[in-house]
Amino acid sequence: MEKLIETRELYTDFNTFEGVVKALNGVSVVVNEGETYGLVGESGCGKSVTVRSMMRIVQAPGRIVDGKVVIFFRAEDRSRGIDILRRSETYMTSLRGDSISMIFQEASTSLNPVLSIGYQVGESFRFHRRTQMLEETIQELEAELSGSLFFLARGWKRTQRGLFRRELSVLKAYEADIDRIDHELYALEDKTDRDSLRRKALLNRRRDRLREKSGLAELAKRFPFLSFYQRRLDRTITRHVVELLRSLGVANPERIVDGYPHELSGGMQQRIVIAIALACHPVLLIADEPTSNLDVTIQAQIIDLIKSLKESIISSVLFITHDLGLVAEVCDRASVMYAGDIAETAEVRELFRNPLHPYAQGLLRSVPKVEQVGELETIPGSVPNLIDPPSGCRFHPRCPHRMEVCPQRKPPLIEHSEGHWVACYLYTDGEQ
Ligand code: SF4
Repeated sequence: MEKLIETRELYTDFNTFEGVVKALNGVSVVVNEGETYGLVGESGCGKSVTVRSMMRIVQAPGRIVDGKVVIFFRAEDRSRGIDILRRSETYMTSLRGDSISMIFQEASTSLNPVLSIGYQVGESFRFHRRTQMLEETIQELEAELSGSLFFLARGWKRTQRGLFRRELSVLKAYEADIDRIDHELYALEDKTDRDSLRRKALLNRRRDRLREKSGLAELAKRFPFLSFYQRRLDRTITRHVVELLRSLGVANPERIVDGYPHELSGGMQQRIVIAIALACHPVLLIADEPTSNLDVTIQAQIIDLIKSLKESIISSVLFITHDLGLVAEVCDRASVMYAGDIAETAEVRELFRNPLHPYAQGLLRSVPKVEQVGELETIPGSVPNLIDPPSGCRFHPRCPHRMEVCPQRKPPLIEHSEGHWVACYLYTDGEQ
C-alpha cells in the first residue's frame, strides 16, 4: 500500500499560564492509500491535537515545535513527499477542504448559524472548484444562447458569457503561475543553503499574492454587474450542492439549501457537515469523533454513511475515537495513543487478538463483554498532567510491568512483527 500522509516525530506544545503542556511527544503515524485508519485513546491523550497538527490548524497558544508532516499524493516524487510544515499558509488553504477534509466533533458548532446551508456547503465549490463552476456556467449560457430567439436577450447572454470567459482565462493563468511556483518550491525543498532559503521565502510570498489575486473579492472588482454575476454562479453551485445532499440521503435538498442549521436535527446537521467535507472529493477524510452527542440509531446511520462513502468517493479515512467497538467495526489499522505518545500500531485484528503494550492490553480488558460477570477491569491511576509528564515512558507510573529503564528513557517504536509496532521496553529487553 502506498503512503498518503505521514507524521514524523511530531511535537506540539501549548504555552499556558501554568506552564508548557507537552501535548505531542514525537508522534509518528502513517495513513496509507485506501485504508481506514483509527487513532484511539482516552480523552486528552492527543488524538485531536495530532490531526489538527497534521492540518496545521492548532489554535494559539498551541504551536508545532518540531517534526514533519509529509503528504505523498501531491508530490512529484512519491517516495519523497512534501513536508507541509515548510509550506506557506496559502498552500495549506489550497489543501484543506480540497484534498484533506475534516469532520469536527460537534456538528452544531461547526456550522455557521447565520449562513444558509446552501451557502456553507457551496463554499468548497466556490473556492476549490471555481474553474469547473465557471466552465459549467459558460456551457449553460451557450445552451441558452442557441435556444434564445430575441435579439436583445441574445446580446445580454453574449455579454454574460464574455465576462465568465474572461474570469476563467484570468483564473487559469493564475493557476498556471501557482503550479510553476509549486514546482520550483518542490525542487528547492531539501536545500538549506542561504540562497535557496531566500528563494523559497520569495516564492512563498509570490504564491500568497497570486492566491489573493485569484480570490473572488479581487476578481469581482473587475466586473460591473457583480450581483448578476454572483447570482448566476451561485445557480451553478446550488445545483451541485443539491446533487451532493441528495447523494448523502438528505431528504428534500432543494428546500434544505435555503434553510439554516438551527432548523435541522443533530443527525441532519452532521450530514451537512459531512457534505461540506466531501464537496471536493478529498483523498483523506479526517473524522474527529463524528458521532459524539448523537443518539445510537443516528450514530449507526452516520457510520454506515462514512463507510459507504469510503467505498465510493474517498480514498482514505482517519478516524479519531475513544470507542474501541467502533475501531473494530470500521478501521483496517489503528494506533493506540497515551499521553501524547503512540503506544502501539497494528492491523485491527492483530491489535485486538494480540495487544502488546500494557496500556493497550488494559484498555482492551476494560471493554465490557456480553458474557461479563462482576466488575469491569480498570487501569489503576489516572492520565498524567502533561505540563509535567512522567519521564521516559509516560505510562510508567501506571504500568504493572515497569522496569528500571522505563522512567529513564522514552521507549522507541519498534516493529515487533510485520506491521505491528510497539513502544515498550518489554519487547526490546530494555536495551534500546
Ligand atoms: Fe511499562 Fe516500561 Fe513498557 Fe512503559 S516501557 S509500558 S513502563 S514496561
